Amino acid sequence: MRLLVIEDETKVARFIERGLREEGFVVETAGDGDAGLAKAREGAFDLIILDVMLPLKDGFSVLRELRTSGLPVRVLMLTARDGVGDRVQGLDLGADDYLVKPFAFAELLARVRALLRRGVAEEPALLHAADVQVDVRARRVTRGGQIVPLSAKEFGVLAHLLRRTGQVVTRAELAEQVWADLPNTPSNVIEVTVYHLREKLDRGFNPALIQTVRGAGYLLQTP
Ligand code: CA
Repeated sequence: MRLLVIEDETKVARFIERGLREEGFVVETAGDGDAGLAKAREGAFDLIILDVMLPLKDGFSVLRELRTSGLPVRVLMLTARDGVGDRVQGLDLGADDYLVKPFAFAELLARVRALLRRGVAEEPALLHAADVQVDVRARRVTRGGQIVPLSAKEFGVLAHLLRRTGQVVTRAELAEQVWADLPNTPSNVIEVTVYHLREKLDRGFNPALIQTVRGAGYLLQTP
């Protein structure tokens, strides 16, 4: 497995490089955004570890150019501790995962292995529709920038409706996807959950995103 580390802080880059080599990976490094992008384009890497703050070209620009050029490489972004905006922006631009600095090497290694195991075309960690954003891994939902606290089932319903944006989702499908742990869930339980989800997500917001399709199920639609 070939890995590219794009990081300008020499100490951090060395620490990552040495650790990954000890684990048997082939590792190359680049110390700025331009050099990193050039190496990424010609190198056929399985994974890129990409710092956000870089000289010449920042990590977001590198990521954007990688994704625009359609390079099917997994990207793990390194972000600042308080950079919630960075994380969202990175995932939005197509990063596969992120790690907050400072981190323990064991954590980096676990993320790297998980990313290498999973397919490139796996579901994005961030789903969105209109002004709703769902961070699937953090199980965090915002609407218009405000956090919307949801129960586990409400979250499951929303995530599933988002994956099927524009399509009618039946109660049977929701039961299968979201209530898999509780076989034979009565449909009124699902209806009550959707009711609460709409109260939290749609009430007081325009447009209302979740619609009931009489006799069929539910539909999440963006204008
Ligand atoms: Ca940096």
